[in-house]
Amino acid sequence: MKRMRIGVTGIVQGVGFRPFVYNLARRFALAGWVQNIGSGVIIEIEGVPFAVESFVQALKTEVPPVAVLEEIWADPCELKGESDFIIRKSEAKAERQVFVSPDVATCADCQREITDPKDRRYRYPFTNCTNCGPRYTIITGTPYDREQTTMAEFTMCSTCREEYQDPSNRRFHAQPNACPECGPSYRLFNEQKEIQSGEPIETARQLIADGAIVAMKGIGGYHLVCNAQDDKAVSRMRRRKLREDKPFAVMGGSLDILKRHCVVTKEEAQLLTGSVKPIVLVKKSAEYSLAEAVAPGNPYLGVMLPYAPVHYFLLRPEDILVMTSGNISDEPIVYEDDDAFDRLSTIADYFLVHNRRIYCRADDSVCRTFQEKPYWLRRGRGLAPAPIKLATSGPKILACGGELKNTFCLTADNMAFISAHTGDLENQATYNSYRDSIRHYQEMLNITPELVACDLHPGYLSTQYARELGLPVVGVQHHHAHIAAVLAEHGMDEKVIGVAFDGTGYGTDGNIWGGEFFLADCSDYIRLAHCAYLKLPGGARAIQEPWRLAAWQLYSLYGPDFINRAVPLTSRLQEGWQLVLQAAEKGINTPLSAGAGRLFDIAAAILGIRTHIHYEGQAAVELELAAAGIQGKALPYQIQGGTPLELDFSPAFEALVNRMEAGADYRSLAADFHATVAAAMIETVGRLGRMTGVNKVVLSGGVFQNVTLLSLVVTQLEKDFIVLLPKMVPPNDGGLSLGQIAVARKRSEGRCV
Ligand code: ZN
Ligand code: ZN
Ligand code: FE
Repeated sequence: MKRMRIGVTGIVQGVGFRPFVYNLARRFALAGWVQNIGSGVIIEIEGVPFAVESFVQALKTEVPPVAVLEEIWADPCELKGESDFIIRKSEAKAERQVFVSPDVATCADCQREITDPKDRRYRYPFTNCTNCGPRYTIITGTPYDREQTTMAEFTMCSTCREEYQDPSNRRFHAQPNACPECGPSYRLFNEQKEIQSGEPIETARQLIADGAIVAMKGIGGYHLVCNAQDDKAVSRMRRRKLREDKPFAVMGGSLDILKRHCVVTKEEAQLLTGSVKPIVLVKKSAEYSLAEAVAPGNPYLGVMLPYAPVHYFLLRPEDILVMTSGNISDEPIVYEDDDAFDRLSTIADYFLVHNRRIYCRADDSVCRTFQEKPYWLRRGRGLAPAPIKLATSGPKILACGGELKNTFCLTADNMAFISAHTGDLENQATYNSYRDSIRHYQEMLNITPELVACDLHPGYLSTQYARELGLPVVGVQHHHAHIAAVLAEHGMDEKVIGVAFDGTGYGTDGNIWGGEFFLADCSDYIRLAHCAYLKLPGGARAIQEPWRLAAWQLYSLYGPDFINRAVPLTSRLQEGWQLVLQAAEKGINTPLSAGAGRLFDIAAAILGIRTHIHYEGQAAVELELAAAGIQGKALPYQIQGGTPLELDFSPAFEALVNRMEAGADYRSLAADFHATVAAAMIETVGRLGRMTGVNKVVLSGGVFQNVTLLSLVVTQLEKDFIVLLPKMVPPNDGGLSLGQIAVARKRSEGRCV
């Protein structure tokens, strides 16, 4: 006989791991026990040596679908002579950080049950099992047990308890296990908070079909739902949500119906149907016929498939519903019931509410594909808080992230836990939830940071938070963080040419940076080139009102006569523009920015595409849409100076004016402008490559959400360079926290904390 003590870490709690171990031990006729501890799972097995070895082998190869094993160790220990294999009660006190599973989309077995009229869970919207269901959003503490979830207030009925206790059952130790008799339920209310009669979900479905807007509580928060084929309903929702132009995401009842309206590639279909179920940006097809207001003027559409039982009841296979985050404009997604009634009542006609508390909010994750690979734009439900593995071990660090599209990140050992998308930290409400959320993550993952990393911008709330903690602080330059995030993901720390094309980030010379070419590794960077500084007349307002930037650009090219040029901009200047230019000339409230985002703003404004924006990056997004499908030719530009080099695009702006006057189409000029920025970037990288001898290039920053630009640049650069792109973290500011971690770790090794 032989006895082994085995430790397993990774995502092994709440994913059916102990039942799996139990069944495995049975199969090999072994005695012993399995137990959840803070850091993972501990197993002791005893039996004939051959069986013990086979068990260890099977443990590694037959893992349940949702589990992710990090480490397994096995040591022989003394025989105890038990006769049975049991699942021991979880250890209350966690020793180290623990891995918390993200929420998992409803599995095929559960789908079958909820659609089977003979099953006791027929049409039950809270059906789940060890292979699927809510996790992160309902976990209040660790170890992961029912008492530490928002299911604690529901007592299992005897049938559910039997399933829960039966090791051969799919629901053995499925913590959120529930049925119509004992679990949570939905109710439907009108705006006056009056309960509506009838089966709540079916009634809601009919109301939506008749044109109503319903606020629906789901897994990570509230969605606003209406019929995507109903012009009136979608326009009404757009008006009420104060979201003038930003496209809405839709959910299709089946992949087939999505394919009728969109072109879905093999890779996109895989993303859509996998266990994360993110929103995937796909191309609209020629047969696209959804309401115009869903994604006006946009060749792309954000689509997803059902991921919770309620979605299967709300959508028939042929239905498509708008399903957008329940919030007003850019506020974080609403997840508490009172808050929903308070804040969504101006938008929704009805409220489909359930009584299982959401402990952590999580927006839907957003992804697109680039070169047949996923390219994440937002990390939320289904991803958070699964760790990203780092190449080396390091201290416990909290990275506070940036200001817009904030995420924060905690590390322990070689794991980086990036938070779900927090949103824009511009108001007190988001800031409060940000602080709560950091506290919860620290408890949940049992990480007490020794060090904190943040952006250099003194005005960011995330920076202020970092400074209040009383820990050693590592300030990380914004674009260095963008580059370091990609290095960290690729498990690299060597010198690369880092291109961070971005909107706004704090520069160490007192100006705004954002069109950066660094020679960088994780510990440091040298600024080798950047986009030429541009004046921002009126400061932050110039970012909301691109006409200011463009007017100043034309004024510097042509003097006061610019107003006579025959381009759309000159007829769209806002009243008082003369004062704006005068102030800019005197340098009053006119900071300097090298942000690459501003180049796109100026081009969009000159071409009359957009003079005022309603969401971050809108002018650039619309310039890209205008260029869709057109092969552009680079306009003139200049690369000047020594170190750093400066990329000057004023010749390109001049060319835009001349060609517009000569009658060129704004769409082909938009394409030309993309080609120009790409050409200048490629030439600069080429020069820097020759200068430094470095052959690896990292591309990141919010501007690279523009895949038109990205593909122009990557195709060309790949001829001479190894090009590294973000894999799991977004190129936008949602990726900053991981970059801050990478830099802080490196610096904490030496003296310079
Ligand atoms: Zn399931
Ligand atoms: Zn039950
Ligand atoms: Fe940024």
